[in-house]
Amino acid sequence: MAPIAPQPGIMEIALYQGGQSRLEGMTEVVKLSANENPYGPSPSARAAYAAAAETLHRYPGTTHEALRAAIGEVQGVDPDRVICGVGSDEVLQFICQAYAGPGDEVIHTEHGFSMYPILARAVGATPVCVAERERVVDVDAIVAACSARTRIVFLTNPGNPTGTMIGAADIARLADGLAGRAILVIDAAYADFIPGFDGGASLVEARDNVVMTRTFSKIYGLGGLRIGWGYGPRAIIDVLNRIRQPFNLSPTQLDTAEAAVRDKQWTAYCRDETARLRSWLRAELIAAGIAVDESHTNFILARFASPAQAQAADAALKAEGLIVRAVAGYGFPEGLRITIGDERACGRVADVLRSFMEGQG
Ligand code: PMP
Repeated sequence: MAPIAPQPGIMEIALYQGGQSRLEGMTEVVKLSANENPYGPSPSARAAYAAAAETLHRYPGTTHEALRAAIGEVQGVDPDRVICGVGSDEVLQFICQAYAGPGDEVIHTEHGFSMYPILARAVGATPVCVAERERVVDVDAIVAACSARTRIVFLTNPGNPTGTMIGAADIARLADGLAGRAILVIDAAYADFIPGFDGGASLVEARDNVVMTRTFSKIYGLGGLRIGWGYGPRAIIDVLNRIRQPFNLSPTQLDTAEAAVRDKQWTAYCRDETARLRSWLRAELIAAGIAVDESHTNFILARFASPAQAQAADAALKAEGLIVRAVAGYGFPEGLRITIGDERACGRVADVLRSFMEGQG
C-alpha cells in the first residue's frame, strides 16, 4: 500500500543540518559549531534550575508573567508585548502558522537562518530566497522580490553565519516598504553581544508590522533548555498567543531563564570575553591570510581561497579535536563558521589555522 501522503510541500523540506558534536575515535573534542556560550549559564541560573526540581509535579503558569517582567526590566521592553517560546524557533513557527499558508510567499535571504524556509514549507507557504550583497542583506532586492502574495520577510540581524549588521535606516526603510502588506521579522538571536543594542525593539514600537525574536540559547548559555522570546505590536502578540500551547514552557525553563536574564553581571562578563577573544582571533586569522569580516556576534566566518581549502582547513581542525561549522549550506562553500570559545579554544584554533596556512605556501 502506498504511504499516506503528507500535506503538500512537506516532502520538499530539507532536514535541518545541526552542528556536529562528536568526532569518530576522539574522546576530547571542543565544540565550536553551534554558537554556544563556552562559559555556560550564570551561577544563579544553575541554582534556579536545581531548585525547580521541587515543583516539577506542578503545571507551569500559562502566561509567563515573571519571565516577561524580567525581560521587560532588563531589556527595556514592554512585558505585555513579549511572547515566550520553546527557543526562538517556536516563536518563528508561531509567526508562520498565524500569518502564512498555502499560496503565500515567505521571503528569506541568501545567508539567512536555515529554519525560515523549513517553517514556511511546514505551513504550506512558498519560501522565496533573495540574494545578499557582499554578505549583507540587500533591502532593495527584498522590496523588489515582494509580491501580492508575500506575507512574511525574515531577516537575521546581526547575521548568521556572516556576523554582519544591516543598517538601522535600511531596516526602517524595509519596514515602511512592507507596511500594510507583510510582517517583517527581525531575528536578533545575537543582539545581546552588542553593547547597548536593542535588537530592533524601538522599530517594533514604532511600527505595526515588525516583530523581533530573541533567544536564551546564545549569550545566556541555555541552548539545551530551549527558551526564546518575541517582541511585537500588541495585535500580533495577541494573535500568536492564540496558537501557543498554554504550557509550552516548563517551570524549569521559566525559572532558569528568569534568573539568567536578571544576572546582568554574568551577561556582561560573557559579552566582554567574547568581544575580546573575537577581535584577537580575527586578527590572528587575517594575519595568517584568511578573510574574516568584522563580526558582531559570538562567531566569525573564516573565508578561504576555495571550497577545497576550506575543507582541508576543517580537516586540520578536526584532527586536533576542534569542531567548527562548514557553512556550504548557507551559501559559503569556502567558509568555516567558528564559534568564539574560551581563551584556550581560541588559541588552539589560531595555532592550527596558522600552521595550516603556512603549509599552503
Ligand atoms: N535564529 C538564528 C539566527 C540562530 O542562529 C538560531 C540558533 N542557531 C536561532 C534563531 C534559533 O535559536 P533557538 O535556540 O532560540 O531556537
